[in-house]
Amino acid sequence: MALPGLYRMNALIESFDEFRGAIEKAATGAGRPLAEAQLRAPVQRPVQMLFAMGNYHEGLEGTARPLGLFLKASSTILDPGGTVVLPSDDAKIFHHEAEIAVVIGKECKDVAAEDALDVVFGYTGIIDVSARGMGMGVGFIDKSFETFCPMGPWITLTDEITDPQNVSVRLWQNDQPRQEYHTSDMEHQIRNLIAYASHITRLYPGDIIACGTNHQGLGPMQDGETTTLEVEGVGRLTVKVSDPHGRRWPMEIDPNIGRAIRQWRKDGTHLDPATSYAGRIA
Ligand code: MN
Repeated sequence: MALPGLYRMNALIESFDEFRGAIEKAATGAGRPLAEAQLRAPVQRPVQMLFAMGNYHEGLEGTARPLGLFLKASSTILDPGGTVVLPSDDAKIFHHEAEIAVVIGKECKDVAAEDALDVVFGYTGIIDVSARGMGMGVGFIDKSFETFCPMGPWITLTDEITDPQNVSVRLWQNDQPRQEYHTSDMEHQIRNLIAYASHITRLYPGDIIACGTNHQGLGPMQDGETTTLEVEGVGRLTVKVSDPHGRRWPMEIDPNIGRAIRQWRKDGTHLDPATSYAGRIA
């Protein structure tokens, strides 16, 4: 899609009050079955996509860790029904991370936490595909391969999700249950993520803040599988996985990543990525 089309939703979100009546009127017609429609990711090119690191207690209560946010390239966004293509790079494993994401509705800077939900347009689902054990740092090298950000299936507005800290998030690989957690377990609440992000930089309509994941239940994404994310109040997003190199990992929850994260939470120990993730079997 050409650049103007890619940015159309940003403009629509910015001027939504003006267009809402016409959009709702258009939705009252006979319509056509959803199965016949080719859905696109609800925002194609946010100016910024900020992703929280960790951000769930994961069964260990106590003091929250410092807030971490990283930038993921917006060119990673993948439409519902699309295919995540694993790169040839020798990652230890490719994990799914199920996340609820905020779609910003108003240009803003230095929003107070108590006012932060006023700048939210709505919520959507994101699978933050992550290559483990690659390079240094977080965000570009391990998270920004093309197709590594399935998003959707659509945006649910704030009048339908009135309390984003009371939402369940689930993910399946094929029919295998993987992640299941609740947004009430977040370390840094959504209003704090928005306040902190807008303290650092200006946020624009269509910008995305993905709220992090609970690592208990992560597992490999590999060739020929499907990944299904369900964010309560938003819906289900399904994508396919392709690995031209046909690598195989055990088709199960990775027993090591959840343990490594809990260890880190307990005493700050970073386990060696070479041993913290499930190994390849072929
Ligand atoms: Mn993530």
